[in-house]
Amino acid sequence: MKNTSILAICLLIGCTTAQDPMAMNESDWKEKLTPEQYHILREAGTEAPFENRFDRHFEEGEYSCAGCNAPLFRSAEKYNSGCGWPAFTMPWNENAITRHQDNSLGTLRIEVRCAKCDGHLGHVFTDGPPPTGNRFCINSAAMNFTSSDELNSTNSWAAATFGSG
Ligand SMILES: [Zn+2]
Repeated sequence: MKNTSILAICLLIGCTTAQDPMAMNESDWKEKLTPEQYHILREAGTEAPFENRFDRHFEEGEYSCAGCNAPLFRSAEKYNSGCGWPAFTMPWNENAITRHQDNSLGTLRIEVRCAKCDGHLGHVFTDGPPPTGNRFCINSAAMNFTSSDELNSTNSWAAATFGSG
């Protein structure tokens, strides 16, 4: 059922198998990702708290999936939860992530995955601040960061290159 709908989406937007992250097998992922990224994204691992890249990182910009580059979170929704991992009150949009029941620690948690490549990102809890009350607790190694300055210079470069026509 799920594979059928993914195939249907691919046909609709015309993605090729070469660029489709869902078509990558485990050895492709091992080649593309660092061992830590692979452990988190593909084996639902968890990095060490506090000693990770984005826990206390509050630069303005965008966080994307380390597996497939899909945008996942914005700095505007990031806050210091004190839990030791990057925390966000909401995802980029509800289509950016998927939620799954996770009973692996003997207690029900809601796992969060990248909607595009199905990579494990972290969990979402309901003890976050207003207005959402959500705390998306995400592994740093599952994400890449692009600062607002980099985004602006990329956009103006693209506008200068492709807009001058
Ligand atoms: Zn992804």
